[in-house]
Amino acid sequence: MNKLSQSLQTIKAARYIGQNLKVQIIARYTELPEKYLRALVKELTGRAPSSGRLITTQRLFRNKRTITACILFVSIYLRLDEQKNNDVDLEILINAYKQFTKQAVLFEVLNHPQCSFTINDAWVLINAYLDKVIQLSPCPCGNVKLISRDIQIDERCWFCGSVARY
Ligand SMILES: [Zn+2]
Repeated sequence: MNKLSQSLQTIKAARYIGQNLKVQIIARYTELPEKYLRALVKELTGRAPSSGRLITTQRLFRNKRTITACILFVSIYLRLDEQKNNDVDLEILINAYKQFTKQAVLFEVLNHPQCSFTINDAWVLINAYLDKVIQLSPCPCGNVKLISRDIQIDERCWFCGSVARY
């Protein structure tokens, strides 16, 4: 990587660090080495980057609250993703997460310690959606449900409780 593109990628990375994205994710989008990114996190935040792996797809759907958060987030992301990209677009993800946090405060079900949903979780979620591990399915009540053929997920509609698939 030449000096100019390294500088441009570093600016991009600094923005992603400001959005609390994990080094692991930022490295994929900037092609900067993780070691370099970890040093950048330290420089910008004064703290070592948070360790720990990304959440597993299964754990995203651990309870009714997180399932609700996932449905809301996928809906917001899809509305913003006009190009219908095959890969997660970080700019769209960041915008979607901002809208999500604004809307989430309105939902009592999401304002709960059992419903932590970080921007890194959102990235894992959208990957699962784009890989068709999960799908949105309309419910007769007008709501949408999350369904999956690959992982165990409570497919009851959080609004009316229906389990029917359409
Ligand atoms: Zn329903």
